[in-house]
Amino acid sequence: TSITRLSTAAALEELITPPVKIEHTKLLINGQFVDAASGKTFPTLDPRTGQLIANVAEGDLEDVNRAVAAARKAFDEGPWPRMTAYERSKILLRFADLVEKHADEIAALEVWDNGKPYDQAATDEIPLFVRLFRYYAGWADKIHGLTIQADGPHHVQTLHEPIGVAGQIIPWNFPLLMYAWKVGPALACGNTIVLKTAEQTPLSALYVSKLFHEAGLPPGVLNIVSGYGPSAGAALASHMDVDKLAFTGSTSTGKIVLGLAAKSNLKPVTLELGGKSPFIVCEDANVDEAVDLAHAALFFNQGQCCCAGSRTFVHERVYDEFVEKAKARALNRVVGDPFKKGVEQGPQVDSEQFDKILKYIKSGVDSGATLETGGQRFGSNGYYIQPTVFSNVQDDMLIAKDEIFGPVQSILKFKDINEVIRRSNATPFGLAAGVFTQNLDTANTLTRALKAGTVWVNCFDVFDAAIPFGGYKMSGHGREKGIYSLNNYLQVKAVVTHLKNPAWL
Ligand code: NAD
Repeated sequence: TSITRLSTAAALEELITPPVKIEHTKLLINGQFVDAASGKTFPTLDPRTGQLIANVAEGDLEDVNRAVAAARKAFDEGPWPRMTAYERSKILLRFADLVEKHADEIAALEVWDNGKPYDQAATDEIPLFVRLFRYYAGWADKIHGLTIQADGPHHVQTLHEPIGVAGQIIPWNFPLLMYAWKVGPALACGNTIVLKTAEQTPLSALYVSKLFHEAGLPPGVLNIVSGYGPSAGAALASHMDVDKLAFTGSTSTGKIVLGLAAKSNLKPVTLELGGKSPFIVCEDANVDEAVDLAHAALFFNQGQCCCAGSRTFVHERVYDEFVEKAKARALNRVVGDPFKKGVEQGPQVDSEQFDKILKYIKSGVDSGATLETGGQRFGSNGYYIQPTVFSNVQDDMLIAKDEIFGPVQSILKFKDINEVIRRSNATPFGLAAGVFTQNLDTANTLTRALKAGTVWVNCFDVFDAAIPFGGYKMSGHGREKGIYSLNNYLQVKAVVTHLKNPAWL
C-alpha cells in the first residue's frame, strides 16, 4: 500500500501532456464546422486539474434548428436513405478503419476530457467502439420486412423503413461508447441524426465525426451540437421535426425529455437511465474471485457507470472475510494521472460530481455505516477521490438507495436467497445485477427473479456489441445494442395489395 501511495503521489505531480492537438471545437452542421449562431462558447476542463482544455461552441435553440433542418433535408432529399444498404455499410466500415488508424489520438482526447485511465480507453473502449460500428455495418444490408399470410385475397408485406431524423442526447461517462450505441444503429437503418454531446465531454465526438465525413458520409446525415441540456438538449427533445429521440443520462432528466417529447410531437423515446445494481455474493462463492469482481463492478470508470454494482450483497457466512479483502483490494487501487501506465483510477469528471460524491460519503458516515477505507479527496489538485469502502450498510441509508456515481462501495449482509431477491428488487431502478455463485440452481433462481435488464453470472460489465442493454422500471425504456436496437430506428409499414384471380392464397 505504501508503495502504491508513493507512486500515485508522483503521478499527480508530473502531469502528462496529452499526445493530441485539439482541432475541432465548433458545431458540426451539414458537414461543416461552424460557430454557434449566438457566437457563444463554453469551457471544457481537464478533470486532472480543473484547468481549461478548450472553449467549445455553445449550441442552443437556433443551432438545433439549423442542425435539424440539415438532417431533415438529408433524409428527405439526400442520398443516405436512397443509396443501397451495402453502400451505407461500406461507409460504416471505412469509418471504423479510420478510427482504428487514429486510435491513439482519439483515446488521448477521451482521457483528457473525461479523466478515465488511458489503458482503459485504448485497450477496451476504442476497440469496442470500432467493433460496434463493424457490427452495425453488418446489419445495414440485413434489414428487411416479412411476407404475411392474411385471410383474404391480399398480398401482405411489411416494409421496415427508417424513421427519419433521430435526436440523440448522450452523457459524459462513456462519450464515445454512448455515441456508438446511438449513431451505429440509427445510421445502419438509414436515418439521419442530430446528436447532442454532454457539456463535460464534447471533444471526442467532434473528432470522430470529422472522420465519418472522410469515410464518405454525406453532409447533413450526422450533425453534432455541443451545448447544455436545458438549452440545446431541450430544444432537440421538443423539436417538431425530430422523429425519434434517444436519451442516456439521469432518471430525472429522462422524465424531462419524455415530457418534452410528449408535449411536442409525441416522438417515440428510448431512455437509458440510472441504476443501483445489486452484486450478490452467495455463500458458496470463491471469495477471492468475488472480491475482485465486485471491486471491478463498482470502481470501473471511477464508479461512473450506470450499471455499477453499487449494492454489494454478501452472504453472512463469507461476509467478514469478504469485507477484509474488499478493503485490502481498495487500498491497493492505483489512483493517479490517467495517462500514466498502470493507473487504475483517474479523477471524477468534474467538480459537481466530485462534490456530490463527497456529500454521499459524509452521509454514509453520518448514517452509521462503517467506513473501512477511503472517504477523502485524493491529492490536493483536480477531482480525485480515494477508493472508498463502507460495510454494515443498511437498505434505508441514502448510500444504499441513491446512485452515487463514484468510487464508493457499499457492502450489505444477507442471510438467505429469498431475502436477497426481495432486497435487490426493492428499488425503483432495474438496470443490471451480478450474481456470484458456483451453484447452478441458485444462479437460475436469481437470474429469473431479479428485475433487471441484464444479469451477469460470475462476470460483470460484459459489453459485446451484440448483447442488448437497457433497464426495467425507472432505469429506462427500450434496449440498445444487438438486434434489439434496430427496432428503435425503424418504422414498420404494412403494404396490403388486393389480388385479382390469384392462383393460390
Ligand atoms: P444528465 O441527465 O444530467 O445529462 C445527460 C445528458 O442530458 C447531457 O447531455 C445533458 O446535457 C442532457 N440534459 C440535461 N438536462 C437536460 C434537459 N433539461 N433537456 C434535455 N437534455 C438535458 O446526466 P449526467 O449526470 O450527465 O450523467 C449521469 C447519469 O447518466 C447517471 O444517472 C447514469 O446512471 C446515467 N447513465 C445511464 C446509462 C445507461 O445506459 N443506462 C449510461 C450512462 C449514464
